[in-house]
Amino acid sequence: MARLLLLYTGGTLGMQPSPKGYVPSPQFAEQLKAALALQPAGRLPDHDLKTLHPLIDSADLAPAAWNRLVAVLAEAWASYDGFVILHGTDTLAYTASALSFLLGPLDKPVVLTGAQIPLGEPRSDALNNVILAMQAAGHPRAPREVCIAFHDRLLRGNRARKCRTQGLDAFDSPNAPWLGEAGIELRLCGLPALPVGTPDLTQADFAAGHVAVLHCHPGLSPQQVARQLDDPQLQGLVLMTYGVGNPPGLDGQLLDCLRRATERGLAIVNVTQCGQGTVQQGAYATGRRLEEAGVIAGQDLTPEAAITKLEVLLARGQRGQALRDALARPLRGEMRAH
Ligand code: ASP
Repeated sequence: MARLLLLYTGGTLGMQPSPKGYVPSPQFAEQLKAALALQPAGRLPDHDLKTLHPLIDSADLAPAAWNRLVAVLAEAWASYDGFVILHGTDTLAYTASALSFLLGPLDKPVVLTGAQIPLGEPRSDALNNVILAMQAAGHPRAPREVCIAFHDRLLRGNRARKCRTQGLDAFDSPNAPWLGEAGIELRLCGLPALPVGTPDLTQADFAAGHVAVLHCHPGLSPQQVARQLDDPQLQGLVLMTYGVGNPPGLDGQLLDCLRRATERGLAIVNVTQCGQGTVQQGAYATGRRLEEAGVIAGQDLTPEAAITKLEVLLARGQRGQALRDALARPLRGEMRAH
């Protein structure tokens, strides 16, 4: 039977109410162990549970936390058959995407999960989600990739988004089929398998302020755009455009700013603001001008995947044309090919 390492990082699943709102519960690890021990013997994969201190609300997550996870995985990789990461839901899709790009090809599954209601609270989804993640990670045909298990769904991590604030079905992958679905049994389906390989378990050199997001909206001024793009620290930008990838014209001034920025080496990726679908930069004249300004079409990348892909590639030292080429093609199944 598979042997798993469960890594607990924080998040609602391990919190308890306090007068100040939900805070991490010091009893969570013991509560979870006790709840898992109540499952019929031999029906769940063997496992160890490791708590990563300090526990965080994942809204406080910074890229350094991804290096911390990589360090723990590096130490444990040879000793386990799969890994389950217990994480807050707010930035769970970012961590799943970032890990997929950091680790590269995998020979073992890494499954993230969390919960909308803490373990021990009435109607908590925590135990079901943890058990689903364990069953997915321990499955003999588990996808060798970073996945999210949540509310009976198994999703490709770098395709997933937190789509609902309240619903227990909080995660979905609007641009890709699910990897699996749990009814009475866990049924693996969906996407063609990614190439299997030995993971890169080295740390990356993340720097704050290298990546920004520019969300186009009516009323955006050329001065606002220029201020953001002229930041000398900035190395990569996710441009959130309308529909199939259309930016506002701003009398040609947006394009001028973008062209100047790409000429000085900034990597700009165009991602749609729509909840579902792909960018097609050539469809309208407005979008086509982005192509001419050197903006890379992000295809059907989620914003989370676009941001973390840029962050990880920059942290791995990619620059210039190599960076642009890597952004334009799928690395770990995160986007459709051009
Ligand atoms: N703020 C919490 C977190 O992301 C929300 C959750 O876990 O559901 O850690």
